[in-house]
Amino acid sequence: MYVQKSFNLNLKRGEPTSFMAHRSIDKLKSVIKSDLCTRCGSCVGLSKGNIVFKDKEGEYRPVVVNEPDEIEAARLYHACPGKEFNFPYYRGLFYKNPLDFHLYTGPVESIYIAYSTDPEIRSQGASGGIISAILIWLLENGKIKGAVVTGMSKKTPWLTEPFIATTKEEILEAAQSKYIITSVNEILPEIEAFDEPLAYVGLPPQVQSIRKLQEINDISVKNIKYIFGPFYGNTLHFSSVRSFLKSYKIRDYKNINKLYFRYGEWPGNMRIEMNDARVVQLPKFHANYLIPFHILTNSLLCTDLSNEFTDISGGDAWAPVYEERGKGFSMVIARSKTGNQILDEMQAAGRLSLDKITIDEAITMHSHGYDLKKRGTFIRLRFRKFLGMTNPDYGYEIKGFPFTRYMMEVAINALFIILGTRFSRWLVAQFPPSAVGKIFEKSRKIWKKATYSIKRENLSGLN
Ligand SMILES: Cc1cc2nc3c(=O)[nH]c(=O)nc-3n(C[C@H](O)[C@H](O)[C@H](O)COP(=O)(O)OP(=O)(O)OC[C@H]3O[C@@H](n4cnc5c(N)ncnc54)[C@H](O)[C@@H]3O)c2cc1C
Repeated sequence: MYVQKSFNLNLKRGEPTSFMAHRSIDKLKSVIKSDLCTRCGSCVGLSKGNIVFKDKEGEYRPVVVNEPDEIEAARLYHACPGKEFNFPYYRGLFYKNPLDFHLYTGPVESIYIAYSTDPEIRSQGASGGIISAILIWLLENGKIKGAVVTGMSKKTPWLTEPFIATTKEEILEAAQSKYIITSVNEILPEIEAFDEPLAYVGLPPQVQSIRKLQEINDISVKNIKYIFGPFYGNTLHFSSVRSFLKSYKIRDYKNINKLYFRYGEWPGNMRIEMNDARVVQLPKFHANYLIPFHILTNSLLCTDLSNEFTDISGGDAWAPVYEERGKGFSMVIARSKTGNQILDEMQAAGRLSLDKITIDEAITMHSHGYDLKKRGTFIRLRFRKFLGMTNPDYGYEIKGFPFTRYMMEVAINALFIILGTRFSRWLVAQFPPSAVGKIFEKSRKIWKKATYSIKRENLSGLN
């Protein structure tokens, strides 16, 4: 059952009641110190140095070093997507008359199974190289002068770093998914100073913050002409990388030379190359064992799997028929007319292979992901409310799941709580990742089979 909440613009849209503090900076601090902080980086980027990230290898939380005045703080608080992002309101604002809509996928103009026809781009991308191919196309056609992307830092190659790419080489350097926390919006000042049209790539909470800034015509986003982004199941704390290395008896992560999360042929490998030439590598599906131990709690409060507020978003085309073939296949969703036109033009120019699918097929392909985000999250939010915890307000709610689905969520949450403890993290690092990865992958398959019908009940019956 879908419930759209009513809201009143004069009353701070959908603001959680516990954040009704007087000063904006106090309200922002409440978000920052809670699970609601998405780490999008907007408050850091817009704060002129008053808010910084001090501990990217740890909790990765913004720290207020100087309190900005009320006007500045109110701007930062508005940009924060952690406490509220009203889906129906922003949909109405940015997507006029979409061709189609589903509560799970968001606005849809077209959906395809896709890949870049340039083998170099395809092989360097996380899946079909679609996002990179689009950025390169826009750059070559003079529609943008730069693209906001996230690569690995040159100075600290174990951490991610957003930057503005202005060449094909730089776009490809930033290709592939990074599964540790990123804070793209830290570079809002650079985005503002660029003064030429830009494309922007970010995860759903980062995109949501950009949309909130566009809503108020904030100067920091005036150069952003196109918004793209990957699907978003979850992201991990940096402790995942440390733990992975520890299991190979490597203690000093500061000797990392290169860190990849999707190295090699799709679906790729987590791979770390050390300065002393040691290399450790594990298939992506096995490296997924790190998820329950190191997941960022906020990922579990996010209800946006497919990056609903982009012009075009892309995910992996998870289906045996594509996985068997390797090479790289994406699912791509054009959400705006602009996004749709880009895909049409690229197809006509032979730059993309596009194979149309329906919304139902798309939902079935990512049924586990949608279950996690559109059912699991709303159940988790109810549990949190029951426990008196503050929740983000998304302006809508999905309710009425079968009792078995609630029970399944209890089991999942218990697992996350137990495996997220220091002891469990320490314990798992004592075993070879190849063995743990295989056990994890096997258990996941058994779990998926066992919960198949619970998850699918009415999965695509809502719109
Ligand atoms: C944290 C995370 C979780 C994901 N979860 C899922 C999932 O559950 N299901 C699914 O189908 N797909 C998921 N994806 C998307 C998938 O991994 C691919 O990114 C997507 O298929 C696009 O592939 P591509 O080859 O077109 O992208 P590419 O051509 O490789 O381009 C990827 C672009 O995304 C940017 N980028 C990469 N990582 C980040 C990041 N962490 N933050 C901001 N920008 C980033 C890069 O700068 C690059 O521009 C996830 C991606 C990420 C980053």
